[in-house]
Amino acid sequence: MNLKYGKEDEAFREEVRAFLRDKLPHDVARRTKTGMHPPNEDDRRWWNRVLFEKGWSAPLWPKEYGGPGWTHLQAHIFEYECRMAGAPELRWQGLRLIGPVLYTFGTPEQKARYLPAILKGDEMWAQGFSEPGAGSDLASLKTSAVLDGDHYVINGQKLWTTEGHYSEQGFFLVRTDNTGKSQRGISMIVFPMDTPGVTVRQIPMINGEGSTCEVFLDNVRVPRENLIGAVNAGWDQAKFLLSNERTSSAEIYKAFSDLARIRHIAEHELKNGRPIIQDPVFARKLAELEIDVNALEWSVLRVLCEAPSNYPIAANASVLKVRGSELQQRLTELAVEALGQRSLRMYRRDEAYAPPAVNPLWPDYTPGVATDLLYLRACTIFGGAKEVQKNIIAKLAFGL
Ligand SMILES: Cc1cc2nc3c(=O)[nH]c(=O)nc-3n(C[C@H](O)[C@H](O)[C@H](O)COP(=O)(O)OP(=O)(O)OC[C@H]3O[C@@H](n4cnc5c(N)ncnc54)[C@H](O)[C@@H]3O)c2cc1C
Repeated sequence: MNLKYGKEDEAFREEVRAFLRDKLPHDVARRTKTGMHPPNEDDRRWWNRVLFEKGWSAPLWPKEYGGPGWTHLQAHIFEYECRMAGAPELRWQGLRLIGPVLYTFGTPEQKARYLPAILKGDEMWAQGFSEPGAGSDLASLKTSAVLDGDHYVINGQKLWTTEGHYSEQGFFLVRTDNTGKSQRGISMIVFPMDTPGVTVRQIPMINGEGSTCEVFLDNVRVPRENLIGAVNAGWDQAKFLLSNERTSSAEIYKAFSDLARIRHIAEHELKNGRPIIQDPVFARKLAELEIDVNALEWSVLRVLCEAPSNYPIAANASVLKVRGSELQQRLTELAVEALGQRSLRMYRRDEAYAPPAVNPLWPDYTPGVATDLLYLRACTIFGGAKEVQKNIIAKLAFGL
């Protein structure tokens, strides 16, 4: 594998940088970099529209459905530059998860109805897979969908539905058959989050936010044509959806921007009258993390460039997920170490549009650091718990 960027790649990088200089205002970048969680929804929707107008909102979608026709490497360069410049991260549930399922399994009507709104950022999506009692063991889900004339009647409860409270649409796994193997009785269905019978309740999180939700489904009537693909084929679609997540769970772009943030903090914060970056113990920890993040990027690039591998893609994806989530936690710990107790400062919602702080005690790099650390305790759980990922690696890569 040749991991040197060619002339064309560098020219592409310049094009992306010029676009970002032109279109990404300083105040939006500042809000993104200032550690607000969940990120500012208005900024995300607005940025989605800006990218859509350029034809860049869905880096990996095929051209015929509105993608830009980039290679995986170009998409990688694009995501890296966007994150380092402080561009808002787009909502992944629509663009990365359900979008590809819709253009692969959906009817022409479904494609025409949903894909344009995802590309433009007009409709945001929530992922309704997990349930109480059906997380790692997803196939044991119980939410039922029973045909009644031309409608499915849906009853059950979903759990941990990220950003369900400000999503217009949801994609759900439901049980359509109780006989036979549990995986073979699951279907995927989509419906608006404001359908009668849907109740969304935010879950208070340890970081003071409520970005995940419980979703109660009480006799929710959904037209039959909202079923995606064949009835009882939802498990295969879910596997397809997760396999599209080949490298994004590595969170490599966030890792690079976190590194830059920590370095910036360490250059400005003092310990015994000298910048913390000059403390050899701290500098060593930062250097170790930089090496690990760079090594993870090489692994991501290897998967993206499809270098021959002895292991199936799902095993590679699990390796990246385990490593990426561990690094996320180490990065947030080092950021807190650099700031000490001043890391406890939260980013308040009402500060989002305020002018930059002038108080030298609270420069822009202070808020949101502990919030990030607390929220990311969950990153070794969401998207598939670390222990389960290790089981997948053991089985698929080592045949255990
Ligand atoms: C912040 C956050 C956001 C989320 N967002 C979404 C979302 O948008 N949509 C959605 O559908 N879901 C979402 N989830 C749910 C997430 O996918 C599940 O939490 C995850 O799959 C684990 O399931 P569980 O919580 O039921 O834990 P369990 O499956 O009960 O696991 C509990 C513990 O047991 C271990 N364990 C379980 N089975 C095994 C095994 N076979 N071998 C070894 N160890 C095992 C796990 O590793 C874990 O440590 C989110 C979760 C969080 C925390």
